[in-house]
Amino acid sequence: MVEPRRAVAPLAETAPIARARDLSKVYGKGATEVRALDGVDVDLARGRFTAIMGPSGSGKSTLMHCMAGLDRPTSGSVVVDGEEISRMSERQLTTLRRTRLGFVFQAFNLIPTLTAQENITLPLDIARRPVDRDYLHTVVEAVGLTDRLSHKPGELSGGQQQRVACARALVAKPAVVFADEPTGNLDSTSSGEVLSFLRHSVETLGQSVVMVTHDPAAASYAHRVLFLADGRLVAELDDPTPDSVLEALAALRHPSGAGGRHAG
Ligand code: ADP
Repeated sequence: MVEPRRAVAPLAETAPIARARDLSKVYGKGATEVRALDGVDVDLARGRFTAIMGPSGSGKSTLMHCMAGLDRPTSGSVVVDGEEISRMSERQLTTLRRTRLGFVFQAFNLIPTLTAQENITLPLDIARRPVDRDYLHTVVEAVGLTDRLSHKPGELSGGQQQRVACARALVAKPAVVFADEPTGNLDSTSSGEVLSFLRHSVETLGQSVVMVTHDPAAASYAHRVLFLADGRLVAELDDPTPDSVLEALAALRHPSGAGGRHAG
């Protein structure tokens, strides 16, 4: 049996792992101004798998980037793991990202000359932080890579490479893992492997995961789906299925129809 990773006080357990209040992001000025986020209030639950969906251009990536300290909001507040990050310096943000956050992107971003294991521990090795061998073993086993650790990325399938990237994000025990279209480059079988692992990391390892996706099947692996439209949070869905996500998306396109719970 794997023990939950973090012993937390009851209050901390219920506090969101990340929170945005009245979050706005405006790109450009004057005639070319684009309001990518328009007053978003959101709580991302600790120890849960949250998916962010919405049409192209609705602000999904901008929301994730602002909440992960990769981009700065124009106004509003972002609190990650108890710390206000919207006014942090670049140096503080870099430290936050390195030490408290994990990232998985559509591109696997593995170093081709290193083995899977070397790729997984690289961020910790660069930061000269010790690798928790027991936790490394737990993560590698959970991700199904135990017999692939000495392989180079070129010897692994796309799904296996993305699972290496997931293990790399998790092994530093981040407060939250941000995944941006993690299955965008994968076929449906490999996508299922990666998404099952992300869900498993939440259920078994106590990880908090936030994923941007445009794929209803991918979103259905989450505990909760948030829907953005025109930079606003417009609906949410708990315990999604691919069908209920599709229904909610249809309801957003045709607001008079049934389905989807509109939040504002
Ligand atoms: P999504 O991830 O849902 O496709 P984005 O967050 O990428 O949406 O984009 C939201 C809006 O902000 C879009 O209209 C997009 O064109 C605009 N946008 C995003 N990034 C920039 C940028 N760096 N400069 C100007 N406009 C941007």
